[in-house]
Amino acid sequence: MPGWLGKPVRAFCIVALAATVLAAAQGPAAAQLETTFEKNVAASESPNSAATVVVSSEATALDVLGDRKKTVLQLTLTRGVTAEVYSLANPYRVIVDLPRVGFQLPPDAGRDGRGLVSAFRYGQFAEGKARIVLDTVGPVAIAKAAMTNARTGSGVVLTVELQSTNAAAFGEGTGSGRQPTGQAPPLASPAAAIATGSTDKPIIMIDPGHGGIDPGAVGAGNLLEKNLVLAVAKRVQAQLQRSGRYTVIMTRDSDVFISLNERLALSRQAQSDLFISIHADSIEQTYAQSIKGATIYTLSERASDAQARAIAEKENSSDLVAGLDVAKGEDNTDVKNILIDLMKRETANFSAEFSRTLVRKLKSNVSLSRDPQRSAAFKVLRQTHAPSVLVELGYVSNAEDSRQMQAADWQDKVSKSIVAAVDVFFDKRPAD
Ligand SMILES: [Zn+2]
Repeated sequence: MPGWLGKPVRAFCIVALAATVLAAAQGPAAAQLETTFEKNVAASESPNSAATVVVSSEATALDVLGDRKKTVLQLTLTRGVTAEVYSLANPYRVIVDLPRVGFQLPPDAGRDGRGLVSAFRYGQFAEGKARIVLDTVGPVAIAKAAMTNARTGSGVVLTVELQSTNAAAFGEGTGSGRQPTGQAPPLASPAAAIATGSTDKPIIMIDPGHGGIDPGAVGAGNLLEKNLVLAVAKRVQAQLQRSGRYTVIMTRDSDVFISLNERLALSRQAQSDLFISIHADSIEQTYAQSIKGATIYTLSERASDAQARAIAEKENSSDLVAGLDVAKGEDNTDVKNILIDLMKRETANFSAEFSRTLVRKLKSNVSLSRDPQRSAAFKVLRQTHAPSVLVELGYVSNAEDSRQMQAADWQDKVSKSIVAAVDVFFDKRPAD
C-alpha cells in the first residue's frame, strides 16, 4: 500500500495523456500512480456554440458502490480526459471536474447516494467544463483516483475511492482543492456577453435561475426548474424585444451553470435598469398539494415570513449545489454593507413598486400564492444599481401548478403579465 493511501490528499489531477495520476502539488502527500491508459484524447473540431456543448468524451455510466467505510465512484467514459478530483468543506463535498464531457446517463442517475455519498449530481458547469458533485455524509479522504481502460468494450473508467476520515484530518489535508476560492467560472454563454455602448432604451436583464449542474427544484416526472424557467425567460425575452422599447439581456440562454456572483456581476456590468430573476419552487410532500401559485420576492435583510426565509436559503444554495466553495468566497461584511446601503437608496422603493405592479398584472392571468408579495435575503437580489425582483412561478411539487407551468398557453400568459408590468414600470419612470 503506498504511503499516502488513507491520508487526506487535497486534490488529484488525472492526466490521461501522460498515463499517470498525479496528486496536486499543494497536497501534503504528492503521489504518482501508474495506470495503464492509452493516449486517446481527441480535440473536437466543432465550433463552440451556446446551445451545443462541445464534448470530446461521453459519460455512459455512473455508479456509486460500497459502504460507509469505503465508497467508490465509477464513471465510464467513451474516451479519456484530464480529470481533477478534490474535496471541499462547509458542507463536505467531493468535486470531479472533467473538460468537455457530455452525459448520456439514465435520467435517474444521481438520485440516490450510497455509503459515504449522500447524493450526487452532474452536468455542465461552464463552457468546456463538466462537473460531478458528490455530497458526502461527513469528511472524507480521496484515497484513490485513477483512470483505466474499461474491462469490457471500449472506453475508460474513472475510479474515485473515498474513505471516511475525521474533521481534523480533513481540515489538515483538504480544502479548497484546485479551485481558487470564490472565483467565478468564466462566462458560460454568449448570452452573458454584455453589449455595452450607448443605448437610450431601458436595459432589462432576465435571469433564469439555476442551469447546468444545478437543476433547481425537481418535480414529478423529472420536471426540472432549470428547464421550466428557461422556457419562460425566453418567452419574456422575445416579447420584450418585440416591443422594441427595451434592450434585453439574458444571464443564460442555454443549459449552463452561472454562479450567483456572476449573475450579480453581469447585471452590474450591463448597468441594467431592471433585473427579473425567474424561478419555480418545491415544497415538502406534506404541503405539496395545498401550497401553490406564483410569488414575487424583493430583497430584505429580514424575511417577511418563515417560508420566505426558507425559500431564500434554498435559492442561495445554488453555488453549493454546483460545487463552488462559497464558505470562503463570500464576504458577509460586504453583504451587510450592501443591505444597509440599499435601505438608503431608492432602488429598494422601485423594487417594491415593480413587485406590486407585477402582482397586479399576474393576478388577472395566473393563480397566485396566498401571500404573493414577500421579501427575504436572496443573494441574487443584492443589487444597489437596479431594482430587482425574483419571481417564483409556482410549485413543481404541486400537481396543478406543475401541469400548468409546462403548458405553452400558461407560459405565454405569465410572460405577457411580466411584460405588461415592465411596460407600466417604464411608462412611469423612463430609464436614465
Ligand atoms: Zn430556484
